[in-house]
Amino acid sequence: MSDVETSAPGTAAVRPAAPTGAVVHDEALEARAPWAHVITAGQTLRIVDLGGNQAVDCLFYAAHDTTERYSAADTITAQRNIYLVAGSELRSNEGTVLLTVTGTSLAHHDTIGGACSRESNTLRYGHHTLHQHACVDNFLDAGSMFGLGKRDLVSNINWFMNVPVGPTGLLGIVDGISAPGLHVDLRAEVDVIALISNCPQINNPCNGFDPTPVQLTVYAPDPG
Ligand SMILES: [Zn+2]
Repeated sequence: MSDVETSAPGTAAVRPAAPTGAVVHDEALEARAPWAHVITAGQTLRIVDLGGNQAVDCLFYAAHDTTERYSAADTITAQRNIYLVAGSELRSNEGTVLLTVTGTSLAHHDTIGGACSRESNTLRYGHHTLHQHACVDNFLDAGSMFGLGKRDLVSNINWFMNVPVGPTGLLGIVDGISAPGLHVDLRAEVDVIALISNCPQINNPCNGFDPTPVQLTVYAPDPG
């Protein structure tokens, strides 16, 4: 039997069971900080929202060839749902399943809201925000460890972020649905490079106007 709930995408699938493999990496990523790490096939990355309502912007690349990377459009089309939920398969621009959401205690996560940048901040919130730190800066910082630059940044995932889409297709970045201690588990199906920006945004509710740390733990493959 699969260890993933089989409810249809978009339903509130909740499966809080912990990975059973040994911990191979564990750190608290401070508020506003970037992170980059290789997750090898079979390992599980658990992200815990320590303070609640903290958007965790995230990108994935195939470690053997970074021109193959996470594709929001391919993922959404394949699962026929705009939300990432327990059981979602994170697909690449070549259709490969890079990772699987093996469990999450949150009803759904976002992959259409994009990443904040200094440019978008000034457009949305005024010129005074020009020097505020933003996710695009974090992605460039983290990506530089693997030779990735601005042309490698594509539409990303926002773990724990609430971007509801209304019946007319209108979307909004609104108050979060996350809470302290909620998590998402991501099992790598191939070796991947993970880039994370612990979102520094303070101009909209995506971080509750108070960016907080998250816990990043990598587990060895389940011993079976
Ligand atoms: Zn951000």
